[in-house]
Amino acid sequence: AAAQKAATPVRRCVMAQDDCLFCKIVKGEVPAEIVREGERTLAFRDINPQAPTHVLVIPREHVRDAASAAAADAGLVDEIVREARAVAESEGVAETGYRLVFNTGSGAGQTVFHLHAHLLGGRGLNWPPG
Ligand code: IMP
Repeated sequence: AAAQKAATPVRRCVMAQDDCLFCKIVKGEVPAEIVREGERTLAFRDINPQAPTHVLVIPREHVRDAASAAAADAGLVDEIVREARAVAESEGVAETGYRLVFNTGSGAGQTVFHLHAHLLGGRGLNWPPG
């Protein structure tokens, strides 16, 4: 049988918010260093990395934060965690360990209100976080 070629995921942003930076990255209107594309997710390097590996995993659709996602579509959170695992493997940090962070609300340091998991790795990570 002929080898099947993986379909290139289509860049789309469901319910894009006009003023949302990460929706613009999904639509290709703002450049980003993309490391992985999933059907429902996108992973790209953080512009201000806090560790040798610092990748953001986001849903293509606009969801405000982890709390909204968990309430509306828990499967989406699962998908983000799975995609993060794949990125950790391709970045070579799966074995040494990595941290996934969902800043949820401005009091916790969320500045971009489009759900994203920070994947941090490649150095020792202290606990408790700052
Ligand atoms: P938050 O503080 O948890 O909302 O994280 C937002 C993250 O987005 C920060 O770590 C920023 O450095 C990152 N960021 C902001 N603008 C861009 C961009 O244009 N490309 C990639 N990362 C960005």
